Amino acid sequence: MNHSDLRSRLLAWYDASARDLPWRVGPRAAGARPDPYRVWLSEVMLQQTTVPHATPYFLSFTARWPTVGDLAAAADADLMAAWAGLGYYARARNLLACARAVAGEHGGVFPDSEAGLLALPGVGAYTAAAVAAIAFDRPANVVDGNVERVMARLFAVETPLPDAKPELKALAADLVTDERPGDWAQALMDLGATICRPRSPLCDRCPVSMHCAAFARGDAESFPRKTKKAARPRRHGLAYVLTRGDQVALVRRPDKGLLGGMLGLPTSDWTAHPPEDLSGAPAAADWRSVGEIEHVFTHFSLTLRVMMADSRADGDLHEGLVWTLRAGLAALPSVFLKAARLALETPRLI
Ligand code: SF4
Repeated sequence: MNHSDLRSRLLAWYDASARDLPWRVGPRAAGARPDPYRVWLSEVMLQQTTVPHATPYFLSFTARWPTVGDLAAAADADLMAAWAGLGYYARARNLLACARAVAGEHGGVFPDSEAGLLALPGVGAYTAAAVAAIAFDRPANVVDGNVERVMARLFAVETPLPDAKPELKALAADLVTDERPGDWAQALMDLGATICRPRSPLCDRCPVSMHCAAFARGDAESFPRKTKKAARPRRHGLAYVLTRGDQVALVRRPDKGLLGGMLGLPTSDWTAHPPEDLSGAPAAADWRSVGEIEHVFTHFSLTLRVMMADSRADGDLHEGLVWTLRAGLAALPSVFLKAARLALETPRLI
């Protein structure tokens, strides 16, 4: 393959077709430098979600906290609430830790090298490479799932994922040069997102199809090869919706673990079999079942039976309950929001 021709074709396509995204300045030929804070924030938000889903969060975060110093000064609870709906709350905690390190130890200025970025709390290899390339034009190899897919197709890599990851990363590294590294990283991202899509890639509109081995074979969509996934295990539990007038009892979850540090409904432990008693109930009350909800986490599926009761004056309430108005439940992580909606039958109110 002629790497240099592939690169110039993709960069020319990017110059003409770059996506207009709120954290981006246009192709580097335009001369402007993006704000590293906005690049970093967008990359963290985009790690497990799509551009359309992340965009409103990005806009509201940057309106509320326009600089890394503003974000560093945010109260933990405010940031966690603003993050609700983006999933992976550990990432929100890391976001805050990183903002505070940049503000406190680097005078509010992001390090401008991949190694410097990698030393920040919560910044992994992917984010460090992406920020180094996009914000500082460093020749970093930025490889996410989109880029892996593009490489697997361009080179018709037969090794299945995840074993193919190092091979795909090495193929991507061979294409990185000192020429416009930020634009190159974003051009690859855009190609993966808009043309070389997971399903039905638009090969007839692809600027590099003449270099693509999978296209030449006529079976682009069959790449990347994948090893069959083991079925997700299922867990079961109970969620409790305890009401007091217009309020619902919540609990703050332990800092460590799934949805750590977030407010949520009280629940039993989540186990392989449905619980046989009312373990984890926040009060002695006349609990009634209102049905079940399903939720899929990365590593398991969860069935929660939703129990509901009104709190009684003599109800022996557990300590640590946080009484919250129904309208405030909208900020709950979605697994609890589903359960609360089922119990309260007021989907539009929360
Ligand atoms: Fe992807 Fe098709 Fe382009 Fe190959 S030709 S890189 S499979 S869009």
